[in-house]
Amino acid sequence: MEFIITLKSSTFFGLLILLLICESAIPAIKLWRSGKQRFIHALNNILLGFINGRLAYYAFFLYLWNEMIQLHKEHAPTLFAIENPFLATVACIVILDIWTYWWHRLNHIIPFLWRFHKVHHSDKEMDVTSANRFHTIEILFSGIIRCPLIFVFGFSMENILIYEIILFVIVQFHHANIHLPEPLDKLIRLFFPSPHMHKVHHSKISNEANSNYSSLLSIWDRVFRSFKVVNNPLKISYGIKQIENSQQSSILKILLIPFQKK
Ligand SMILES: [Zn+2]
Ligand SMILES: [Zn+2]
Repeated sequence: MEFIITLKSSTFFGLLILLLICESAIPAIKLWRSGKQRFIHALNNILLGFINGRLAYYAFFLYLWNEMIQLHKEHAPTLFAIENPFLATVACIVILDIWTYWWHRLNHIIPFLWRFHKVHHSDKEMDVTSANRFHTIEILFSGIIRCPLIFVFGFSMENILIYEIILFVIVQFHHANIHLPEPLDKLIRLFFPSPHMHKVHHSKISNEANSNYSSLLSIWDRVFRSFKVVNNPLKISYGIKQIENSQQSSILKILLIPFQKK
């Protein structure tokens, strides 16, 4: 367990640094007017991710999800029991990923949830650090909403962590502002949401933003008919029309976005 937690944080930081270097060397779009602007943007997003990561660790990994696993052992140990460890890991990844797809889609459909989820979409300069940019209340809701699933299926904490590690590798990658030739992007999106695919999801145009909800496996967008590609993803304008740059200058202002009237 300790090993997987160490693996999770080292994978996160290792990949973050690698993708930041790639974004400087081969950017897809010119996002920054200055290094200072890029630094403040990254600092806000990463600090927000750090706060959310600590909250998830104490509230869910150490407490709530553990309680659900214990409840499953006491009340439903034979329900969906899979003996083979590899198949149990695969089943955990697939079931959690369908759940994540629908949770994400509901965040776009239900106005109360959208209030918080729009913090992620308000980023006008999407890069690898945007993978961290979620409102703390959305993280809280998404952790709680997983509880019935963990109780019913009784996933092990190791398998939940394996899902989280793979998920965050893919999520960091598809937010990254790195140049990829279209054929390569096309190949990636057969299996995972690619950078071009996720660019469409961050579009200012709501018809485009309400598509491509997949997080780890891209198949869900095809199965549930929300898959969309556009002719020139590099021309997409990111963000939400009503949210100005001044509302994004500090973590506090970012966290207040859901409580503003617009
Ligand atoms: Zn979204
Ligand atoms: Zn995103």
